[in-house]
Amino acid sequence: MSLTIALSKGRILKDTLPLLAEAGIELLEDPEQSRKLIFPTSREGVQIVILRATDVPTFVQNGAADIGVAGKDVLVEHGAEGMYELVDLQIAKCRLMTAGKVGAARPNRRLRVATKFVNIAKRYYAEQGEQVELIKLYGSMELAPIMDLADLIVDVVDTGKTLKENGLEPRDLIMPVSSRLIVNKTAMKLKQARIQPLVDQLQAAVDRRQVATA
Ligand code: AMP
Repeated sequence: MSLTIALSKGRILKDTLPLLAEAGIELLEDPEQSRKLIFPTSREGVQIVILRATDVPTFVQNGAADIGVAGKDVLVEHGAEGMYELVDLQIAKCRLMTAGKVGAARPNRRLRVATKFVNIAKRYYAEQGEQVELIKLYGSMELAPIMDLADLIVDVVDTGKTLKENGLEPRDLIMPVSSRLIVNKTAMKLKQARIQPLVDQLQAAVDRRQVATA
């Protein structure tokens, strides 16, 4: 029975490959240098597909991929139906935050908030008892306050350099983010003999790192 693992390019791919290598799964070529989307691995019957980060939960949820690695931000925004979140891989860590123009005062009207995380933002502001106007964007969120499209953005922040370089400052923390190993529920039943050892190996690799950095 073959096994398909869904990853996304960038931070998640870079940080997941060493963990997979510890579990005995290595890529035979570098996806960052290739336009291919499906890659065989050193382990017989295990392949890796490269997707847009926001598409990883969709592939795993529908069983097109058995396993995936996705940020907690992407998972919460997408919803976790049909899959198990089994391991906090402790990689690609960042924070989902609100941010606004440096020193900007709160306007005397309903806040306009630009984000690609509309579900998370809707829930967050509802919990705060704040009615906001949400503006869906797909990228370059930092531009929204500068161009006066919005008062605030909701985005992931790592070092804060991107915000700073665009005249913005972080405001409130919505949630800490790290990448999670997700598994399709049906695949977990049907392919448990293949999936469970891999889950255990990845958890052990994460635990070893935690001990090493403690
Ligand atoms: P920063 O280090 O705050 O300047 O982050 C650089 C850019 O990378 C920002 O625009 C963030 O949206 C993005 N980013 C930072 N960390 C992550 C992550 N773990 N996953 C996805 N995007 C991230």
